[in-house]
Amino acid sequence: MTTLLRTISMLVLFLLLSAGEVSAQGGKWEIYDIGGVKYVSLSDVWRFYRFTPKQGRPGCVSYGAANRVVSVKPERQDFYVNNYRYVLSYPVRKHGEELLISAVDMKKLVDPVLRPRFSKQAGVVKTVVIDPGHGAHDAGAVSPWAREKDCNLAVGLKVKARLEKLGFRVVMTRSTDVFLTLKQRVEIANRTPDSIFVSIHHNSGRRAAEGIETFTLAPQGTTSPFAKTRRFADLAGNDQDSENIALATAVHSRAIKNTKAIDRGIQRARFSVLCTIRRPAILFEGGFVSNPKEGRLIATDSYQNKLADSISQGIASYAQIVGGRVGGLKKRNTRTGGSGINGSSTYSGTTRL
Ligand SMILES: [Zn+2]
Repeated sequence: MTTLLRTISMLVLFLLLSAGEVSAQGGKWEIYDIGGVKYVSLSDVWRFYRFTPKQGRPGCVSYGAANRVVSVKPERQDFYVNNYRYVLSYPVRKHGEELLISAVDMKKLVDPVLRPRFSKQAGVVKTVVIDPGHGAHDAGAVSPWAREKDCNLAVGLKVKARLEKLGFRVVMTRSTDVFLTLKQRVEIANRTPDSIFVSIHHNSGRRAAEGIETFTLAPQGTTSPFAKTRRFADLAGNDQDSENIALATAVHSRAIKNTKAIDRGIQRARFSVLCTIRRPAILFEGGFVSNPKEGRLIATDSYQNKLADSISQGIASYAQIVGGRVGGLKKRNTRTGGSGINGSSTYSGTTRL
């Protein structure tokens, strides 16, 4: 797609949130209002991306093109791209024969994932701020098998070593067993130019709960189980919505592929570190210390290596997608390249989507 065409398309998507009905590529986007939430029909979405019916996940409606298959289920918030799970801000709705998806999910999740585009300041990633969660008296999740603060730090230090080999500068919010407030962690990233922020945590929950999940900041105005407060607040983190979801996609998809862990999805939250940050940011949860099987795994050097490989590879891929230089090496890809990222084999190849 040419730059001009892309601009027109984005304008159409932007209009979706304000107009009652707009034309798009020879068709019309009809806007539905359900309980005050604006929706568009998925048949319009498929037409917009030139998607056709595909074999996808069992029980799902699946469409795609080339190496992309997208799957959704009526009345569910699951959205799958090539089997990697995202959690929508609102459920997919059924309206007669039509399936509807919220306009905010279309704008803040579907389109940035299928056609990533980035703000100008996102062009170079020189430094990665790694934030191993908790520390000192704050142990985080604790079980007979693992202590979260130790696993966070072990994985964080492994990520640091890998990223430095790749030519990145790395700033650790902590590299020993010390305590920092959430505000201090964010401040470190906010005063580090050309950086991204990756907070590393591990989970606890019901004994049976397991798997990996990655959190990004919830879009303004939406709610989700982890994003009920500050719904309408103007949060600094929302300035990087597109970068956040791209970084989450790159890291999360690798972690699921490398570990074969249960995919709990890329989810939305308004966690403190994600709200006030002025850098692309994610919070990665590498598994449940409270699960007897996963808790034991998380404490092993080999599993920590797998997590660190995934996080560092994901970061490197993200840095390559947004363009610029890393470690003095010219990138193979630039964000202004050719047919647009949706059709770019480099993007598809590097993100495994
Ligand atoms: Zn934690």
